[in-house]
Amino acid sequence: MNHWITGNTQLICLIGHPVSHSISPAIHNAAFFHLGLDYAYLAFDVREDKLEVGINALRTLNVKGFNVTMPHKQAVLPLLDEVMPEAQMIGAVNMVLHENGRLIGYNTDGIGYVQALAEEGISISGKRIVIAGAGGGARSVAIRLALEGVPEIVILNRTLDKAEEICSMIRKNVPSCKAEAVPLTERGLSQQLMEADIFVNSTALGMHPYEDKSIIEDPRMLHRELVVTDLIYNPRKTKLLQMAEEAGCKAVNGLGMLIRQGAAAFKIWTGVDMPVEALLFDRK
Ligand code: NAP
Repeated sequence: MNHWITGNTQLICLIGHPVSHSISPAIHNAAFFHLGLDYAYLAFDVREDKLEVGINALRTLNVKGFNVTMPHKQAVLPLLDEVMPEAQMIGAVNMVLHENGRLIGYNTDGIGYVQALAEEGISISGKRIVIAGAGGGARSVAIRLALEGVPEIVILNRTLDKAEEICSMIRKNVPSCKAEAVPLTERGLSQQLMEADIFVNSTALGMHPYEDKSIIEDPRMLHRELVVTDLIYNPRKTKLLQMAEEAGCKAVNGLGMLIRQGAAAFKIWTGVDMPVEALLFDRK
């Protein structure tokens, strides 16, 4: 199938700083190629002090949309014409649709996490979910889980205020979800995990180049029915996930979330499902 850049090719891009490590261009261009869609995806390194002019340039050049990555996920909000309710709750945008001259911000990270679990055959219905960390990743995941109807979420974090802030946002917007913030200590985590169905590591512990670190050091904290998920995708198998597998738990890395948040964005931009199965990702 031909996929040449033409006079009609629509541009979608990534803005962030840095961006050279991103696999989004490879994922989206492979999907455009596979489907024969006349789009191209490029990554642009935009520093903080150039964000506003960068966004105005994207408007002028009439791009179809763009992904937003660190450090712009929060700062981009006031530069947009509309921000979808979930992205407002999260306080961060990871993708923008440019439609009828308007820039509309979304956050597809949380839906990516939920869809990645579904793809693994893991149900979140009626589950008690324990999250370690309260940064941007935790925020997107926790809010989406609450919106999906999860009855109970516990967030443990070193800086308790950040966990508390996410929980009060959930309690305010999704009163049916019991959300509790707990200080992150080994004892506290151990107690919470006894009653948990799904554990989410959203701290950077275990991420390259700190592969020797894990939020859980003692495998006895993991019971066999626990599903252990790590938002980290580099490496594919963190120390935590290795330990979880050895303890007999189902273990899921962050690559599925990354792919699925991209697939959700792809659908919003193009109206077409991303052919995820046809794109050969090295998931292990
Ligand atoms: P972030 O906003 O910087 O938050 C980092 C979190 O980790 C904070 O809660 C921080 O606690 C905690 N933390 C850091 N070092 C710690 C330590 N030594 N001990 C205990 N807690 C520690 O980062 P983020 O954006 O949420 O990303 C976190 C991880 O998720 C990264 O590995 C990222 O690549 C991954 N992620 C993956 C996806 C995906 O699509 N798979 C999406 C988003 C994020 P304090 O608040 O106390 O500092």
